[in-house]
Amino acid sequence: MCIFCDIVSGKIPVHKVYEDSIALAFLDIAQVTKGHTLVIPKKHSAHMLLCDEDTTLEVYRVARRIAQNIMEMTDAGGINILSNVNEVAGQTVNHFHVHLIPRYNENDSFKIEMNESEPQNLKALAELLYLDSLY
Ligand code: 5GP
Ligand code: ZN
Repeated sequence: MCIFCDIVSGKIPVHKVYEDSIALAFLDIAQVTKGHTLVIPKKHSAHMLLCDEDTTLEVYRVARRIAQNIMEMTDAGGINILSNVNEVAGQTVNHFHVHLIPRYNENDSFKIEMNESEPQNLKALAELLYLDSLY
């Protein structure tokens, strides 16, 4: 049972802002800021990294366009676009989704904190993470 699959099938009603054969965009029930929107693939994947590449690209294509429209139709000065992967990263619904969170000022109800942790050996880390090719 997946709550977002129930939204795709129409079992759970939502306020849609866009739909095509691959993706659906609707207002998040808990509006972190006014216009907070979720973009999801209609096909179930637990999170972005498990979704096939073509579907993922289409979801982000839709997310980009919806984000542009939110910026145009509201007085938001910016927007945070993010997808949580797994519980440790804050994912609560295990169906790939992209959050579009319009930002009205730096002290609004969304906070993202990037604090520096202990220094790392960047040379070793880059060597570890270096990818020769995408495929
Ligand atoms: P996550 O924490 O997994 O990144 O985000 C899941 C999001 O789904 C939350 O922001 C939550 O408010 C939203 N959500 C959960 N259930 C429903 C629902 O039934 N309808 C809508 N519109 N949003 C939901
Ligand atoms: Zn699902």
